Amino acid sequence: MAASLVFRLHDRGPEVVREVLLERGWEEYDQEEQEEEDWNLYWRGSAFHNSEYHNLLPWQRLNHHPKTVGITRKDCLARNLRRMRATFGTALYDFSPTAFILPNDYTRFLSEYNNLRLAGGPSVYWICKPVDLSRGRGIFIFEDIKDLVYDCSVIVQRYISNPLLISGYKFDLRIYACVKSFHPLTVYLHQEGLVRFATEKYNLSSLRNLYAHLTNTSINKFGPFYKAAKERVGRGCKWTMSKFRHFLHSQDINELLLWQRINNIVTLTLLAIAPSVPSCPNCVELFGFDILVDVALKPWLLEVNYSPALTLDCQADITVKRGLIGDLIDLMNYTFIDSLRERGYRRHGYKKLCLRANRLLHVPTPPVLSKFKETKFQERKSGGQSSRRLPMIKTLCQPEKMNKRQSRQHASVADTQRHFPPVDSNQINATGGRLANKTQRDKSLNLIFGPCPRTNMSVVKRQTCLALAQRLTDNRSLHVSEVTNNDDTETEAEVERSGEADASSSIHDTRHRGLGFRQTKLPDINSGSHTPVRMERTTALKGQHFPPLRVGDFIRTFPFNAATLRASRHELDVKVVIQELHKLTAQLAKTGYRLRREEERVNKETDGEKDFDALLWGPKDPPLLSQCFKPT
Ligand code: ADP
Repeated sequence: MAASLVFRLHDRGPEVVREVLLERGWEEYDQEEQEEEDWNLYWRGSAFHNSEYHNLLPWQRLNHHPKTVGITRKDCLARNLRRMRATFGTALYDFSPTAFILPNDYTRFLSEYNNLRLAGGPSVYWICKPVDLSRGRGIFIFEDIKDLVYDCSVIVQRYISNPLLISGYKFDLRIYACVKSFHPLTVYLHQEGLVRFATEKYNLSSLRNLYAHLTNTSINKFGPFYKAAKERVGRGCKWTMSKFRHFLHSQDINELLLWQRINNIVTLTLLAIAPSVPSCPNCVELFGFDILVDVALKPWLLEVNYSPALTLDCQADITVKRGLIGDLIDLMNYTFIDSLRERGYRRHGYKKLCLRANRLLHVPTPPVLSKFKETKFQERKSGGQSSRRLPMIKTLCQPEKMNKRQSRQHASVADTQRHFPPVDSNQINATGGRLANKTQRDKSLNLIFGPCPRTNMSVVKRQTCLALAQRLTDNRSLHVSEVTNNDDTETEAEVERSGEADASSSIHDTRHRGLGFRQTKLPDINSGSHTPVRMERTTALKGQHFPPLRVGDFIRTFPFNAATLRASRHELDVKVVIQELHKLTAQLAKTGYRLRREEERVNKETDGEKDFDALLWGPKDPPLLSQCFKPT
C-alpha cells in the first residue's frame, strides 16, 4: 500500500502550508520516525543549499528553483531590468520605475536628479530602499537630495506619486505567480491575490508618514487606523482580488486590459532570468509580484518577493492563501508514484532515479551545476552493486562500440532506464542501446514522473506498482521535459542559492482530484495533455507537452500561444517571446478588449480553437485570448 505523502517544513514553516497539507491527508515529516529521504515536499522560506538540489530524489520536490535571486533582490532586479531594457527596448520594458543602485550609481543618480530639477517640471519624488531588506524596513521617501542618507547598499527609485487611490487610500497588488518550470518556461498566475492598503490617506505633503505611503501590512497593522472602518476600504488593510475586481467593475474600468498588462510584466520579468536558471523540474516557485497601479491604470512593478508572506492576519489572507496553497499543491501534480518513495522502489528492486534522467533528450542550455553525485542514500541503498540489481544496464551499454557523445547518451539511458520498472523490453534498441523511439522513451520516464491523470488514492492503493506502471504506459499523452543543464560554472555568491536536479515532472489536468483535495469546480477546459491540440502547421510541435490552461485558480500565462510554446521548448528564445509580446501589445493597443459577454459565450460553445491559447487572467472563468479580440 502506498504511504501517505510527506511534507517537511523548515523552521516550523508557514502554518497555512501545514494546515492545507494535513487536511489533504499528508503527513508531516518527523525526523525521529522517518528516514532522511522520506518526504515528498520540502518547504523553506529561505534558499536551499546547493547540495539539497544535488541530492534530490525522484519523488522529492522543493519550493524554490535555484538562482532566482536575479529578480528577487531589489538591486539585482533593477540591474536585470535595465539590461533587458537596453537589449529589447523601452516599448515593453517600461514597467519598472527608474532605479539607481547606490552607492555605485550615485553619479548617475545625481545627474538624473539635476536634469529633472533643471527641467522645471512637476515635483519629482524618490523612494530609497535597502536592497536586501523586506517588509518596508528602512524605506523612506524624499524630494530633496539632502534628505538622502544611507549607510548600506540601497536602491533609489522614482516614486510613483500618482497612484490610483480608493477613497484617498493608496494600495498595491500582490500577485502570486507560480513558475512551474523554467525549462521549458511555464508560468501560472493565481486569480486570487491580495490588495494591500495604506491605512492613512495619501498625501504628498507628509512624505514621512509611512502609513500613508507604504502599503506593507507589516507596517500598517501597527498604524493607529488599522482597525478603524475606513471609507470604502473598511477595517484592516487588505482586500481579496475578487473584491478589487468588483470595485473595478463598479467604476467601469476595463480590467482585462489591466490584467493582460500585469501578465506581460510577470513574463517580461521572468525572461530576465529564465535562461540562466538551471533546469530543475522537481522544483516549483511561488513568487509574489508587487504591482502598483497609477491613475492612468498603468501597472508598475515594485518588486518580486522570493518567499511571499503566508501569515494569516485577516479573513482576506485566509481566503486567498489557503486557496493558493491548495492550488499550488495541485499544480505540483503529485501522483501515486510519489507516495511509493523509497520503500516502493526498494520493494521492487529499483535504484534511485538519476536526477539527470532527461539528459538524453538534452538541449545545450541552460547552465549546469556540478555533476550529480551519488549520495549516501544511493550508496547505502545500492550497496555499490547497482549493476547486479539492475540487469538492464548491460544490455544498454556497449561502450566499446560508441563514440564519446553516444556513450554519454547511453550512460544517460542506462541511468534512466535502470531505475524504471522493466515495462517493455522493446524499448531498447539492440543496435545502439537507445530507446527505440521518443514515445517509448517518454513512456519510460513518465513511469516515475509522468502526467498520468490525478488518481483517486482509494482506487490506486489497491493496485500494484507494476500494474500502475503498465496503465501509465497506455497513456498516450506522456511527456518528459527535454532540457538539461550543462554548465558547471557558478560564482561563489551564487552557490548559496543554486542547485540542480533534473528529474522530470509535469503537470496535468486536476479535474480528477483525489480524496481530501479542495473541491474547486473547474470549467470544462481541455488541458492539452489529454486532448488533441490544434497547432500551427509544423511537425516540430509533435509530441509536445502542453501544460494545462488552468489548475484551480492558477491560470497559465506562459506559454500563451503556439509560437511561445515553440520558443520555450528547448533553449528559451527570448527574442521570439519578446516579438510575440510586442504583437500582443500592438493588438491590444489597436483593438482593446472589446469583449462582449454574449459573443464570448457563443464563442465558447462553438469555438474549436479552445485547445491551446493563452487565457486571460481576470474573470473567474477566463476566456481564451483569441476570444477577446474582435477581428479587425
Ligand atoms: P519591501 O520589500 O520592503 O516591501 P517594496 O519595494 O515592496 O519593499 O516597497 C514597500 C512599499 O513601498 C510598497 O508596497 C509600496 O507601497 C511602496 N513603494 C515602493 N516602491 C515604490 C515606488 N517606486 N513608488 C511608489 N510607492 C512605492
